Amino acid sequence: MEKKEYQLGDIVLMKKPHPCGTNEMEIIRLGMDIRIKCVGCKHSVLVPRAKFESKLKKVLRSAASPAPMEGEGAQ
Ligand SMILES: [Zn+2]
Repeated sequence: MEKKEYQLGDIVLMKKPHPCGTNEMEIIRLGMDIRIKCVGCKHSVLVPRAKFESKLKKVLRSAASPAPMEGEGAQ
């Protein structure tokens, strides 16, 4: 089973793209509701956690942990 883990500052990929064409969002506030900011147009929206999780496709990169180096780029 897959658990979606995300935290403040994470860049997440949403299932539906924003009207501006970008579907990458940055989590700028975490709570009962989650505020995400569109990476493309900087527009931010507040969505209930359940709704956010249903729209979340995957976490692209975490703010806390450095991106894992899997082969490419690693020296
Ligand atoms: Zn946008």
